[in-house]
Amino acid sequence: MNRSSVAIYPGSFDPVTNGHLDIIQRGSRIFGKVIIAVLRNQRKNPFFSVAERTEMLARAIEPLENVEVARFNGLLVNFAREMKAGVVIRGLRAVTDFDYEFQLALMNRRLEKEVETIFLMPSAEYSYLSSSQIKEVVSLGGSVKGLVPDFVEQELLGKLEKSGQKPRIS
Ligand code: ADP
Repeated sequence: MNRSSVAIYPGSFDPVTNGHLDIIQRGSRIFGKVIIAVLRNQRKNPFFSVAERTEMLARAIEPLENVEVARFNGLLVNFAREMKAGVVIRGLRAVTDFDYEFQLALMNRRLEKEVETIFLMPSAEYSYLSSSQIKEVVSLGGSVKGLVPDFVEQELLGKLEKSGQKPRIS
């Protein structure tokens, strides 16, 4: 497969949301292959382990034939080279994403000029959705139905229960 038809979609996916899935679906219609790359070396303390995040993604993308999940650490451009991918997909929500994404894209271009970053916009209903907001709402006892796959909501509730942090139902 030509490098420009293989795209990588990197992120923490802690956990995957319908906003991520919206971007993945759009990407899968444009590119021959989309590789979701789950970040291993995270500075922030992840709620789900890499294995759990990868498993949830794999389950969520099951119907999409040209999408796969991988894990990576280190430089994204090195991983792209290894996967023979010429494109990095990032999702752009509101303007708040712009500055960070701009820096990241330009740094990646500096490190590897053959890899192009492209931005996709999710459907408006997911434009203000983030994994951290989902975790917060669930931990406070709120419903996130329609914002994450149902099984992800169950995983979140199970994890909270295991950690002794029962969600507070108001
Ligand atoms: P990171 O830690 O790299 O920000 P995330 O899992 O939060 O990882 O996000 C991965 C990518 O998906 C980023 O490009 C982010 O902007 C994008 N993204 C996250 N949530 C949404 C959403 N609701 N709609 C569209 N894109 C999103």
